[in-house]
Amino acid sequence: MTISRRHFLRDSAQFAIAAPLLGAAAPLLAAPPPAGVDYSLITKPFVGKKVSAKDIIQRDVGGLTLFSGSGCNVIAFAGPDGALIVDGGHAVNAALLLKAVHGKLGTQRVHTLVNTHWHPDQTGLNEVAGKDHATIIAHEVTRLAVGRKLRSPLFDGTIGPLPEAAQPTVTTYDRGVLQFAGEEVQYRYLPGAHTDGDLYVYFPKRNVLVAGGPVTSDRWPVIDYLNGGFMHGFVRSYEVLADLVKPDTIVVPANGPVISGADVVKMKDLYWQLFKQFFVLFNKGLGPKDVAEFNAGKEFKGVVPIVADRPLIGNPLLQQLGDPSQFLEFAYRSTQLATLPF
Ligand SMILES: [Zn+2]
Repeated sequence: MTISRRHFLRDSAQFAIAAPLLGAAAPLLAAPPPAGVDYSLITKPFVGKKVSAKDIIQRDVGGLTLFSGSGCNVIAFAGPDGALIVDGGHAVNAALLLKAVHGKLGTQRVHTLVNTHWHPDQTGLNEVAGKDHATIIAHEVTRLAVGRKLRSPLFDGTIGPLPEAAQPTVTTYDRGVLQFAGEEVQYRYLPGAHTDGDLYVYFPKRNVLVAGGPVTSDRWPVIDYLNGGFMHGFVRSYEVLADLVKPDTIVVPANGPVISGADVVKMKDLYWQLFKQFFVLFNKGLGPKDVAEFNAGKEFKGVVPIVADRPLIGNPLLQQLGDPSQFLEFAYRSTQLATLPF
């Protein structure tokens, strides 16, 4: 049984779900911050990690070029009037990344830029693209988010606002399609998954999917629980992606090496299982940090014996993605926020 078959986030309900998610983006700290962390006290702007030219690695992905190392995976290909680029890495690396892109593609300017979401490791090329008068495509929530100062538990500083010229010029609440250099490029909303404004971008002619924030292959895809990301939407995003892909689809994650469509289907099943386990632990009274500690082996004998599976025991993603503590804590916290009144 899938979430979609039950009652949650059907395609037809995406417009309905978008409104509350938009609302969630506005009062950033409407949800209580976790104990010990007062995000309203964070006032220093976030600056991404600066890299050098040798850190930006290029590889061919289905005839597109993948640039990694500037903050996130960036996909680019050339058209007659400039480059189409999906995501942009950190702004601090924008000049280096652009030099690599134009050097590889032989382009002079950014023609179209797609933001898969508004986090600063995705929107670092927006300002340059704005100066190039590029079309910048994003979810409407992303447009709103980059126009204001935000805080996120995923970044140690304030984020934005970006200058007006850097803001998306074409937005969607659901899905869209564009023609670029003679081929179709599709994009679609993944509601409430990694943030409140995630898009995937799909190149059907090349069988390449740029999955955006919910998918990573070299670390756990941490959910931004203060900015509209929820475990519920996160799991649903994997259902949407799993429905789209074929086993041999090349899937570009937000970070890490490319994976296959078959990998995405496996991940969907694993995250679904984890989501169900959360509710077992939920009913036993565990909090977000407790879940991460319980998974790491801590017993809670002094409180009450916890008879439950460790959430990720035996999960093959553990070998691939490393320490899951922050992912577990934030994913569970998002489950609480979406389930309990406060
Ligand atoms: Zn992100």
